[in-house]
Amino acid sequence: MSELPARENFALLPHGTELMMYLVLIPFAAVFLYGLYLKLSEYGLEALRAIARDPVGWLRNVVRYAVAQRRILREMMPGLMHLGLSYGILALFIGTLLVAIDFDLFERFGGKLLEGTFYLAFEATLDLFGLFLLYGLLVALGRRYAGVRRLRSRIEYYSYLYGLLYIGVTGYLLEGVRLYVTRVPWSGYSFVGNSVSVALSYLGPPREAMAQLYGWVWWSHALVAFGLVASLPFTNLLHSVVAVFYAGLSHTAPRLPMIAGTPFKLQELDESAEIKVGLRKVTELSWYQRMGLDACTDCGRCEAVCPAFAAGTPLSPRMVVQKLRVELWESRRRGPRDVFESGVLTYDELFACTTCAACVEACPVTISPLEYII
Ligand code: SF4
Ligand code: SF4
Repeated sequence: MSELPARENFALLPHGTELMMYLVLIPFAAVFLYGLYLKLSEYGLEALRAIARDPVGWLRNVVRYAVAQRRILREMMPGLMHLGLSYGILALFIGTLLVAIDFDLFERFGGKLLEGTFYLAFEATLDLFGLFLLYGLLVALGRRYAGVRRLRSRIEYYSYLYGLLYIGVTGYLLEGVRLYVTRVPWSGYSFVGNSVSVALSYLGPPREAMAQLYGWVWWSHALVAFGLVASLPFTNLLHSVVAVFYAGLSHTAPRLPMIAGTPFKLQELDESAEIKVGLRKVTELSWYQRMGLDACTDCGRCEAVCPAFAAGTPLSPRMVVQKLRVELWESRRRGPRDVFESGVLTYDELFACTTCAACVEACPVTISPLEYII
């Protein structure tokens, strides 16, 4: 064993595992790329053009809304939860990318990226951010099980929260087993994995059996990760990417519809008023509005501050956005249809809006639900 600390890629796995992994990855990658193509054609290319026109303005907003998460942190508990989730996922993504670069690029040409001090810092950083991720996931799941009213319980949301939890927990387990079997002198830098390894040393299971178990857990870890990546463009998890680009472009779109003398009750409009309520088909949405539907996290902050919702009317700004999001997907399959005739939206809910813009102010992603109402 080399004295220089270095990452041993595909350790404890049979020869040929890397090739098998890439073969298994192909269908998952194909699904992901298809979803990416759909989103690029729907709004992604327009968004990239808008960023190219003003990269500095976009970056400034990304720092404000996505890096510092200023609007998200207005609520402490969910804000810290989101901070843990987003930075945990980002760190694990970058870590996986570095491992791939190390194995597929550096090692192929006789070099090594993950070695020495950089490798030790890499191990310690990933272990730390893995804890942030677990904290975020446990709070997110805890809030749902505690029945926080504004959170919607959907199988889709539980699936990816548990999927991420599985990746986080098995990641530490794999690291612990690897350290238990290989016993490298620098294991302390992987301080969580090392704790698992110390616990295993105390229990003393046979090393051969643990090495065999490692293979099974490794494959399940990889399959869950591949599944999450493949499903990304098709689930609400997409907000984790789209919301960053969307909030960065918030300065390019007017924050509120240009209405004189707001707020007022849409119900009190007379026929001579020159304000169009709602939209007839999702094809009427601009690319930025379509992007906003995918950027929505379904957090319910807009609903919580909506006076029309509090008064018991059928209007929920969150549900207007979410229903249009589903309709946008459906329209691809069966063609655009009239959202009122098909019952996606009702005049009763849209006319309940007071145009107070409280929902716009509350949205952590800078979405204006009002834009979909008027
Ligand atoms: S503007 Fe937003 S918060 Fe105000 S009533 Fe309309 S939907 Fe509700
Ligand atoms: S529109 Fe904004 S505040 Fe409302 S649910 Fe979506 S992300 Fe949350």
